[in-house]
Amino acid sequence: MAGDTETSEGRRPRVPYLLTPGPLTTSDAVKRAMLRDWGSWDSDFRAMTAELRSRLLGLLGRGGAAFDCVPIQGSGTFAVEAMLGAFVPPDGKALVLANGAYGQRIAQILARLGRDHVVLDTGDYLPARGPEVTRALEGDPAIGQVVVVHCETSSGILNPLAEIGAAVAAAGRQLLIDSMSAFGALALEPAQIRYEALVSSANKCIEGVPGFGFVIARRAALAAARGRSHSLALDVHAQWAEMERSGQWRFTPPTHVVAAFVEALRAHEAEGGVAARGARYARNRDVLVAGMRALGFETLLDDRWLSPIIVTFLNPAHPRFDFARFYEEMKTRGFVIYPGKLTVVDSFRIGCIGRLDEDVMRAVVSAVQQALAAMGVDDARPCAAALAERARLPA
Ligand SMILES: *Cc1c(COP(=O)(O)O)cnc(C)c1O
Repeated sequence: MAGDTETSEGRRPRVPYLLTPGPLTTSDAVKRAMLRDWGSWDSDFRAMTAELRSRLLGLLGRGGAAFDCVPIQGSGTFAVEAMLGAFVPPDGKALVLANGAYGQRIAQILARLGRDHVVLDTGDYLPARGPEVTRALEGDPAIGQVVVVHCETSSGILNPLAEIGAAVAAAGRQLLIDSMSAFGALALEPAQIRYEALVSSANKCIEGVPGFGFVIARRAALAAARGRSHSLALDVHAQWAEMERSGQWRFTPPTHVVAAFVEALRAHEAEGGVAARGARYARNRDVLVAGMRALGFETLLDDRWLSPIIVTFLNPAHPRFDFARFYEEMKTRGFVIYPGKLTVVDSFRIGCIGRLDEDVMRAVVSAVQQALAAMGVDDARPCAAALAERARLPA
């Protein structure tokens, strides 16, 4: 990655690479874009907001013309909450497909909003399949919306959106997608998968810095959301209406974050768009997974469910393996990794997204090897119980 976060001495980074699913490692150009101050009312800033919205819509591909983009201040969860408040009517009912922390958070938000919902919880990492969704919808005609997480970042599983989307469309219901950790790297063409709205944020696959999220929704759905939101600040319709009217955000926008994001979007296009971004992340994953397996590690998920976003590895069973120590050994070598987020088995995660390439991932694998040696761990295989748990995954 063209020496972005490196010194002239070679591969040793000035600051650690973030192998985390956002905030993540950004380019120097993105960081430099934050060095100038912008007036939120000024026409130059309004032009940036317009460019941001139209560039994001440009990533939708076929069928994108019916959609509009509404940025929302705050972290990604703020935008998820805004989306749910706009597109699940107060007297409606939603089906939440949960297989990890972010699916559970969606159910938690709906509960707090007082929106009726049922949860199809498939555990830590099993995906909901099309036929199950069909059955759930047939059994409950009151359900109007299905909410799904694209890549469930807590395990790294890529949920089977095509079959879920087909089941939802066949039942005549609406699909809302938390594509936070996937949008910009994995295609989500409305012509392929029918959905009403998706949500993502600045600091994931577009490789910006944290500070806002965005809702991309059908214009008809946006128009229908008027007056529905439980919240003043998170009212998607009101934010959309103001942006359409004046080109401005309703309340103070994260100006520097927006400037950095526009820079990140330009780099995304220059790289080759969604396909090229996804391909780089997939290569990162492939190098990482092959290298880790060669060291004796096992992935939680079978290859067919592995996303190019983040990979969960089972902790080695070796008595000298200790995650806190492993984390520090990795950080010393220039890499910040991520703890696991599973309830059943001990694990840790390594992200593949951000300004990283295959050379960086090879360096990650060699740092892992050195970290294990420093800890006196000579065998990275997981315990039998973890492998037995993993065997429950569908083929
Ligand atoms: C990152 C992420 C979010 C939002 O998390 P924040 O901490 O609020 O930014 C939501 N869903 C998924 C799947 C994510 O990966």
